Formats: sequence, structure tokens, C-alpha cells
Amino acid sequence: SPTTYSPAAPWVFDRSLSSSAADSNLIRATLFPGDGIGPEIADSVKQVFRAAEVPIEWEEHYVGLEVDPRTQSFLTWESLESVRRNKVGLKGPMATPIGKGHRSLNLTLRKELNLYANVRPCYSLPGYKTRYDDVDLITIRENTEGEYSGLEHQVVRGVVESLKIITRQASLRVAEYAFHYAKAHGRDRVSAIHKANIMQKTDGLFLKCCREVAEKYPDIKYEEVVIDNCCMMLVKNPALFDVLVMPNLYGDIISDLCAGLIGGLGLTPSCNIGEGGIALAEAVHGSAPDIAGKNLANPTALLLSSVTMLRHLELHDKADRIQDAILNTISEGKYRTADLGGSSSTTDFTKAIIDHL
Ligand code: NAD
Repeated sequence: SPTTYSPAAPWVFDRSLSSSAADSNLIRATLFPGDGIGPEIADSVKQVFRAAEVPIEWEEHYVGLEVDPRTQSFLTWESLESVRRNKVGLKGPMATPIGKGHRSLNLTLRKELNLYANVRPCYSLPGYKTRYDDVDLITIRENTEGEYSGLEHQVVRGVVESLKIITRQASLRVAEYAFHYAKAHGRDRVSAIHKANIMQKTDGLFLKCCREVAEKYPDIKYEEVVIDNCCMMLVKNPALFDVLVMPNLYGDIISDLCAGLIGGLGLTPSCNIGEGGIALAEAVHGSAPDIAGKNLANPTALLLSSVTMLRHLELHDKADRIQDAILNTISEGKYRTADLGGSSSTTDFTKAIIDHL
């Protein structure tokens, strides 16, 4: 892999590089409503955006009915091209079809769009009681390598080997993104999470890259925390953290731990940053087939994910307005979906959010 990596802020959304909408005042964004409850919660986002007059024109793509040989998955080449062209998109949950000979949709997206950083803002929802009321942190997970490189094999009978790949290029890229994010969002600390005392070469290289990047951001405090200690600290006092950056496997686990601190995956937004400044926001919960089509789904995670998309587009006034309306609706407690202990339908909850705009 290359030994130098000098990004010219490749993650900043550049309108001139994305495809233009029919109306030049609008930004065109790809929407994958997804499966199961996906279309219901995507509809909620569309309604809220319309009511808040967000200047977005959706380009909707449904997951294909047949495997596309060019992607080896149900996700068609045209859908991927749409995100590449628009550089910004929102994804609902996608069911992983059981079968042979094709890749999972999420894996296809991650690989084809090179979605190298998964960003999850995790903050306490006012009025929704969990053990903590002061969580406000961001997990940034390297999304392309580490233990998830898919390099596993049997050495001899009874012995298997799994390769953990860490490259300088991917580590610098995610570290750069973490520091850029901290600076752009007025955050003052980045913690690199690792196990370099044991994984000296791999996590050692990851830390070396983080340190290198940290030097370019003297205003942001940089610290290194061993993963096991980090878990204990997060559970004891999540307010100790601000922005956390880490390799793939640690990020997978820690980001769910953090979601648990604020009430679960149904409330946690997420955004994937990809090569060429692509941002694909997504709800991290699944397609909830048990409640699909029953008007029971909670659209909060997809709505808050759409807020991260607006922030990426630097539409902060719209993002603030929608985020406040969602949080105030939940905090008030009159309209909540069943998963949050209420009895509202998806449509009534959506209407309540629109009334709070
Ligand atoms: P799931 O998240 O779909 O459901 C787990 C439980 O949480 C269910 O009881 C469901 O009703 C509830 N739930 C989830 N989201 C909810 C919401 N927004 N509002 C209210 N309740 C909600 O997980 P699963 O059942 O393990 O997976 C179902 C399908 O989703 C599978 O095909 C799986 O592959 C897929 N999946 C996709 C993603 C993704 O696209 N990111 C993530 C996880 C699972």
C-alpha cells in the first residue's frame, strides 16, 4: 500500500462534483428505502423533509428482485452508480436474502463504495430515561480491514487461521476523518482505541498513524485508550469520552455498546463515509419483518441518520430543526412508538414530529 496519504479534505461535500437536480436549488440524494419496515420509515423521512422544506430531491432505488451479475448481489449496478453520482444517500434496512452465489447487500455497498469510516453520533435523548443522561460521544470505526478482511483458512486439521490486516493507508484515512470531524463539530478530544500492548504490529501501526495525524491538529487533545479499559470507562462514565476512533472489530463492538448507553439501535443514527467524498447515512437496525407493514415501526434511527446526512451537506439549520423536533416529541412522551413504551403508530409519531418543527 502507498506510504503517503495526503487527502485534500476528500470528505467535504462538493456540490459541483455531484449530479445536479432538475431544480438547481435542490441537492439530489439517493434513497434506498430497503426491506421490511424500510419503506414505512423512509416515508416518514420524506414527509418530515418536505414539511421542513429541506432542499433535497430524492432519487429512489429499490433493491432488485434478481441478482445483478455486475455486483453479485441484489443491489443493482444502477443503484450503486446513483450514490457515486450524487455522492450522498440514505439507506433503510436491507434483509440479507438466504441463498448461495451472491454477496450481502451491506457488504456490496461497503466494498463497492469503499465506505471506510462508519460514524455514529451517540447522545442521550432528553426525556427518554436510561442509566445515563449525559452521553454525547461519536464512534468512528474503520470499516474496510482489520479482522473483517475475510482472510480465513484452515492450516491443518484442527487449526484455523484468520488474518488481521492493518494498512497505513486505511489507518491514516480514518484518523484524518476523525480529526476532521472533531474540528468541524467543535469537539476537543480524540481517543484512539487499541490493544497495541498485545497486537503490537497491527494496532501499533494504527496508533502510529493516529499520532501522525494528531500532530497536525494541535488544538485537539489526543489520547490512547486500551480497548478493555475503554469498555469499563464507557460503562462507568461515558461522559469521559468525546470522539473515539478505532479499527474495525473494536468499532463494531464499541459502537453497539454506545448505542446501548442511550437506549438501543432503534435510536442510534449512523453515517458511512466513502471514497470520493461519498456519505451514505443508514439506520443500523434491521428490517424488522415481525412488524413490517403494520404501521408500528419507529422511524427515529432513520430520521436521525438523515440528520447526519444534512450535517454532511452543511445544512445545519435544517438538521437542527429536525433533530430538535424529534427529540422534543420523544421527550414530551405523548407520542411514542411501541418500542419506546408508547402506543403511537409510525404515521402519528411522524405527524407529531412535523407539528414540532
Ligand atoms: P431487526 O433489527 O430487524 O429486529 C430486531 C427486533 O427489533 C425486532 O423485534 C424488531 O421488531 C425490532 N426493531 C428493529 N427496528 C425497529 C424499529 N425501527 N422500530 C421498532 N422496532 C424495531 O433484526 P433481525 O430480526 O435480526 O433482522 C431482520 C433482517 O434485517 C435480517 O434479514 C437481517 O439480515 C437484516 N438486517 C439488516 C441490517 C441493515 O441493513 N443494516 C442490520 C441488521 C439486520
